[in-house]
Amino acid sequence: MKNNHSNIEKAKKYLTNNDVVAIPTETVYGLAGNAYSNKAVKKIFSLKKRPLKNPLIVHYYRIKDLKQDCIVNETFNKLYSKFCPGPLTFVLNKKKNSKLSKYVNANKKTIAVRFPKNKITQNLLSKLNFPLAAPSANISTKLSPVKPEDVKDEFGNKIKLILDGGKTKIGLESTIVDLTEKISILRPGGITIELLEKVLHRKIKLKNLLKNIKSPGQLGFHYSPGIPVRLNAKYPKKK
Ligand code: AMP
Ligand code: MG
Repeated sequence: MKNNHSNIEKAKKYLTNNDVVAIPTETVYGLAGNAYSNKAVKKIFSLKKRPLKNPLIVHYYRIKDLKQDCIVNETFNKLYSKFCPGPLTFVLNKKKNSKLSKYVNANKKTIAVRFPKNKITQNLLSKLNFPLAAPSANISTKLSPVKPEDVKDEFGNKIKLILDGGKTKIGLESTIVDLTEKISILRPGGITIELLEKVLHRKIKLKNLLKNIKSPGQLGFHYSPGIPVRLNAKYPKKK
């Protein structure tokens, strides 16, 4: 579906009504809903068959809006000015008076946030008076969608609208950086550790994947294709 003005207006209408729509980002397609609404956020979990204890990433357009919901620090400011909008997710402390649904961050004290780079989604966010909770638009543990057709295959008519942004530029999840304690990477992704280290002039640890599971993206069973996989394949075999 083409993204003329009327589709963005349609998406706005659905989202304001606590419905869920698929949105393009520079990483993968997201399944988006009003992050301030329990109803919308619960719909996302149920469509994805995602366990309620696995928190979602909240997407913002303006830093001023983000500051209503979470506490930023000097490291955030440095990384924001270098990499945002872009494929970098920050885990920050949530403000006590934030309007975010308690389901969006699994009732934790922290919240994962990012600023997507896709123009269609930025345009949509700029017209809303709430941020968007948007996990990848796939059933939990399956591969993340990089084309509108992937989203359609996964959810069929269960979602009302897919905003078409063509194939996503990066096709890989955002890097998740935890700024609530000593800085660490919770999930490798679109921005490399080396790039982050260069900007901050210090070494950054990738959290021990097995010792301290802070993001389910760190689990061994995640992003699985659902059919047998041949490793190191250079050419397709017959059938
Ligand atoms: P997805 O939305 O599918 O890209 O996955 C988002 C990832 O962010 C999941 O692995 C979550 O566990 C992780 N995440 C979201 N919120 C938090 C948080 N507050 N602390 C740590 N990880 C989080
Ligand atoms: Mg995902």
